[in-house]
Amino acid sequence: MPRGVMPRRPARTGRQDRVNMARTRTAAPVRPGRTPAAAKAPRTPKTSASAKGPKAYNPVAPERIAEILKRLDQLYPDVTCALSHAGAWQLLVATILSAQSTDVNVNRVTPELFRKYPTVEAFAALAPGQLEPDVRSTGFFRNKSKSVVGAARKIVADFGGQVPDDMEKLLTLPGVARKTANVVLGTWFKKAEGVVVDTHVHRISRRLELTKNHDPKKIEQDLMRIIPRERWILFSHQIIWHGRRLCDARKPRCVDCALENLCHAADKTWSTVEVRKNAKA
Ligand code: SF4
Repeated sequence: MPRGVMPRRPARTGRQDRVNMARTRTAAPVRPGRTPAAAKAPRTPKTSASAKGPKAYNPVAPERIAEILKRLDQLYPDVTCALSHAGAWQLLVATILSAQSTDVNVNRVTPELFRKYPTVEAFAALAPGQLEPDVRSTGFFRNKSKSVVGAARKIVADFGGQVPDDMEKLLTLPGVARKTANVVLGTWFKKAEGVVVDTHVHRISRRLELTKNHDPKKIEQDLMRIIPRERWILFSHQIIWHGRRLCDARKPRCVDCALENLCHAADKTWSTVEVRKNAKA
C-alpha cells in the first residue's frame, strides 16, 4: 500500500448510517412482480365517464330486457305449463312429482294416479307408503309420497278441501316451496305472485345475465325486479320451453337460437358476439 493511502472505515459518528436509513424510508415499496418505475407511476384519477365508458354494457337495461321478451313472444307465443292436470289439486301433485324429474315422466304417471285417487280426500286417507309404488318412477318417491299425502291432509283439515289461492297459505303445505306455489298460482289461478324458478329458468337467467345469483329465491327477486309483473307468468313458461327445446344444460343449440346475438354466455356452443366469462349456467 502506497504511503499516505489508508483504507476507508465507517465513520464513528454513524453519519453514513443515518443517510442510508433515510433513503430506505423514502423509497417507494415495490411489490413482487412490479418494476420500481411502475410502482412509482402516479395513478390517473378516473372520471365517472371514463370508468363507465360512453356505452357501458348493462345486461339488465330495460331495452335489452324488452328485446329478449319480444323475441320470446315470437318464439313461444302461446305456451303454458306442460304438466297434465285438471284442477289446482292435480297441478299441485304433478308439480311436487316433477322435482328432479321430467314433465314427460310425470305425465306418464299422473293419469293412472288420479284415476285411482280421484279427490284430495282420497289422497288424505292414504299412508305415504301406499302411494310410493304409484310415484316410484318419478324419483325421490318416499319424500314425494310424504309431501303429497301431507299436503292433502293439510288441505282437507285447514282449507276445506280446496287448494288455497294464496302464497302464504300454499307455503304452509308440506313439500311446497315458492316454485311449486308460483306454478299453481300462475298456471291455475292466473295470479302473478312471483316468477317460477326451476332448473331451466335458473340456467337461462344466468346465461342471459338476468341474474348473477345461484340461489333460486334471489334469482326470483332479481327477475321480479327487471321483468314487468304482467309478464311473470308467461316469461317463466317461455323460458322453460326454451330450456327444453334449445337452451340445453350441456349442449345448447346456439346456432338455432333467436336470442343468440343477445346472449354472451361463456358456455355457448356457437357465438357471433363477445362472450363473458361470468355469464354461464
Ligand atoms: S344463445 Fe345458446 S346459450 Fe344463449 S340462450 Fe340461446 S341456446 Fe341458450
